[in-house]
Amino acid sequence: MTLDDGATVSADLVVAGVGVAPCLELAEAAGLATHEGVVVDARFRTSAPGVFAAGDIARYPDCVSGQPIRVEHWVAAERQGQVAAANMLGLATPFQEPPFFWTAFYGLGLHYVGHAETWDSIEIEGDLESQAAVLLYIKNGAPQAVVTVGPEQATLDAAQAFRERCRGG
Ligand SMILES: Cc1cc2nc3c(=O)[nH]c(=O)nc-3n(C[C@H](O)[C@H](O)[C@H](O)COP(=O)(O)OP(=O)(O)OC[C@H]3O[C@@H](n4cnc5c(N)ncnc54)[C@H](O)[C@@H]3O)c2cc1C
Repeated sequence: MTLDDGATVSADLVVAGVGVAPCLELAEAAGLATHEGVVVDARFRTSAPGVFAAGDIARYPDCVSGQPIRVEHWVAAERQGQVAAANMLGLATPFQEPPFFWTAFYGLGLHYVGHAETWDSIEIEGDLESQAAVLLYIKNGAPQAVVTVGPEQATLDAAQAFRERCRGG
């Protein structure tokens, strides 16, 4: 494989993570505040009264880290849409769910809860080779995200712990 700088790397397998960019033209033309996504508050309200955004496009305050984040995952989009709808109905409901996704590759299930763009270390419990492991993404001494490879109980437990952190418990 040849890199942009001309260097070559020998590999049996190449995994390319190309990512995506949110399409913001419509939001910008409408005058909504944007910053690598449509900026919303914890109720998915945009900068324009009566206009909400949720899902991949929304940059919202993550209740776990307190940081504005944008998440591109199915379950997150569903849960955000439900809370946005509740707020459209005037129910004044803040979003208090940690980001979560699951996916599967060739029969191997991966579950991820939390949000770690950077971390100090990754602690691995269990055994990656036998596809039964828990990975803890640690920052400032606390897990920011938990990944399970195989059995997912640890991500369910972590989701509950993150929820309690969100609710001040
Ligand atoms: C290849 C791929 C694999 C993925 N795998 C996983 C996975 O394994 N696990 C997981 O959790 N997530 C996965 N995702 C992410 C998941 O699909 C998204 O997070 C989720 O679909 C986001 O939902 P959404 O409603 O925010 O946006 P979308 O599903 O993108 O829906 C936005 C809708 O708005 C419509 N739209 C856009 N502009 C306009 C306009 N101007 N007027 C009217 N309609 C418009 C679009 O056509 C689209 O239907 C994957 C995504 C891709 C692309």
